[in-house]
Amino acid sequence: MLACTGCGDLLEAVIDPPREEPAALKQRWLTRRMSYQAVDMSGVWRFREFLPETYDAEMVVTLGEGNTPVVTAQRTGAWAGARNLWFKHLGWNPTGSFKDLGMTAGMTEARFAGARVVACASTGNTAASLAAYAARAGLTGRVYLPAGQASANKLAQALDFGAEIIQIQGSFDDALDGLLRRNDAGLYFLNSINPFRIEGQKTAMLELLEQFEWRVPDYLVVPGGNLGNSSSFGKAFLELKKYGFIDRVPRIIIVQAGGANPLSRMWTSGAKQLEALPFPETAATAIRIGNPRSWKKALHAVQTSGGLVLDVSDEEIQEAKTMIGSDGIGCEPASATTLAGIRKLNAEGKIDRDANIVAILTGHALKDTDYINKTQEQRTREHAGDCIRV
Ligand SMILES: *Cc1c(COP(=O)(O)O)cnc(C)c1O
Repeated sequence: MLACTGCGDLLEAVIDPPREEPAALKQRWLTRRMSYQAVDMSGVWRFREFLPETYDAEMVVTLGEGNTPVVTAQRTGAWAGARNLWFKHLGWNPTGSFKDLGMTAGMTEARFAGARVVACASTGNTAASLAAYAARAGLTGRVYLPAGQASANKLAQALDFGAEIIQIQGSFDDALDGLLRRNDAGLYFLNSINPFRIEGQKTAMLELLEQFEWRVPDYLVVPGGNLGNSSSFGKAFLELKKYGFIDRVPRIIIVQAGGANPLSRMWTSGAKQLEALPFPETAATAIRIGNPRSWKKALHAVQTSGGLVLDVSDEEIQEAKTMIGSDGIGCEPASATTLAGIRKLNAEGKIDRDANIVAILTGHALKDTDYINKTQEQRTREHAGDCIRV
């Protein structure tokens, strides 16, 4: 269902040319922001002309996802050596990560296709999102998680939304492999290899461009895990350009964690095929992935946009995360790869300091509170010491 029976590669949706001129459609999208219809209040379905199907409005499974702000990076920008830096915070979605953008599209299609049980393997956020949207749709949600590797907060969300939780001994890659091998006809798969999820995620870029009054930034910086996000953003820009909504595309930069960096290794070595890492390791658990399924699509996005791929260490991620927190924004560790990557590229003189850069923040600060408590423990102790001295 999710791979081509001929070549084995992932499927991809092909979008019909919009029936309206760009200027008219841009205006229609703006006008929908004043509507109180559920499909118009969703930051995904508001852009439904770029989604695959026109479902009846009542069929759409939505929690009002999208509609996330662009926040200027103040201290963080200066710290990273970037004069014009913005965060698009996709962690400010209903379940706290960008996964909701694809999930509303995937779950709507699942219900449309008559699915009863929807399933995914997950490092945590897909599980939380699937659980919430399955509950909305009245479907059974089943999530496969690598035991002991997902954050407690994400697991708690999946529990709260009533999903069935199956903990797998092994990594996320093992969990996904196992799920795909089962090939259970009764399960509808909602991992990001599902092309409908990729379509839903595209709308983040339509919303971003609208927020910039359709001025295209020079760089878009995205964390890289299973690489669905970067794939979908690249697809969005190419479609928007093809149909005359923008006249150029931003360079897409993918930042991986150093211990889970198969695409970055491939990029640096110039290899033609991705070599999976059997034991990916990083404290940024959302991107602890050694065998990213969407690597071909993501590579296409980087190559067609003139972008690049790099990785950063867990220490660099932690420093960057602390900076983002100190700017009053906050994010989960995987998201902070973006700022760490920008700082590194600036230090190496690889990007123009005056360039307009948008960094995607993928998850909310409260997604991994153990990480914060552990890495900032030192500071609470110092404060405790202050109290005693007083
Ligand atoms: C899923 C996730 C990622 C990785 O996204 P991919 O599309 O798999 O590359 C990064 N950050 C967070 C917070 C996530 O939940």
